[in-house]
Amino acid sequence: MRDGAIVIDDADGIIYSNQSFLDHFSLSRGDVIGKRLLEVIRLPELAELAAAAREADTPLEKEIRVIYPEEKIFSCSVSLIETEEGEPAVIALIFHDISEIKKLENLRSEFVANVSHELKTPLTAIRGYVETLIDGAINDQAHNREFLQKIDKNTQNLSALIDDLLQLSSLEARRGLEPFAEVELGQEIDRVIETLAGKLKTKAIMIERPAPCRLFGDANLIYRALLNLVDNAVNYSPAGGKVEIGCRKAEKTMEVSVKDQGAGISAEHLPRLFERFYRVDKARSRDQGGTGLGLSIVKHIMEIHGGSVRVESEVGRGSKFTLVFPSR
Ligand code: ADP
Repeated sequence: MRDGAIVIDDADGIIYSNQSFLDHFSLSRGDVIGKRLLEVIRLPELAELAAAAREADTPLEKEIRVIYPEEKIFSCSVSLIETEEGEPAVIALIFHDISEIKKLENLRSEFVANVSHELKTPLTAIRGYVETLIDGAINDQAHNREFLQKIDKNTQNLSALIDDLLQLSSLEARRGLEPFAEVELGQEIDRVIETLAGKLKTKAIMIERPAPCRLFGDANLIYRALLNLVDNAVNYSPAGGKVEIGCRKAEKTMEVSVKDQGAGISAEHLPRLFERFYRVDKARSRDQGGTGLGLSIVKHIMEIHGGSVRVESEVGRGSKFTLVFPSR
């Protein structure tokens, strides 16, 4: 069994251990058999749990955190095993490793906290402007339009956030996927340029396209991934910049890249860039209508394609994001 198990006698001496217990704690049988429980696992709460089970003559359970040889959380159940009449009962301790479940639980509650915070930020701004208008600013010809525009912008941010959250959740559940097929990259680039037309014009950004190139996958998802990367490239580029989309065949992969001449990203941020809500500059991201979810959506899309995404960047010289598709 994968759970660790030991049996202790009435003086807390270990009389049995299975292999999983030894593996979990990186011990050998010699380190364990004949030793006291507290000598082997230096957690007084465990010995106390065994004593309490013995005292109450009832099975007990407790979560314990171990830091050696690595940090792990176990659900530890302690139960009395009846022996022959007159002999003192021994106690079995079962160690069920719940570290992964705990990690997922923590991630989930962290995500819920992040989402709530991200929803609250634009909502607080909207309430503030609405209250100011109600309190009289509605008649202030010099500012009322500006306040309405701010409300409009924050509403758009909220809506973008909800769209991205829904998108992430369908990607996680792998809902709404089309069967994979040949995808003409040029067509998806056309869609991206059409979607971003207004922004490209305002910022006078030129898009450089690759030679015709075919991928194998879900066209809508490839469009989404590309849209997120090109949108970022445009957002984080100075006006008049150039965004270069490339496509090349590598040994076993097809690589689609989006390269900008923007501000770049310093090395310490790169490992966390694809995490949900991770942003180098929160205020700047929000100001541009960013949700902080774009790159984690890209990462998910590439996982669905059996591929990956990577980034290279240098401060002051720009960034290059590459989608790596397995070639057929
Ligand atoms: P956002 O909605 O904030 O753009 P993303 O998940 O798309 O969220 O990106 C995460 C962060 O990565 C951004 O907030 C930004 O700090 C950084 N980033 C992404 N793309 C670029 C880029 N092309 N140039 C510079 N920084 C970028």
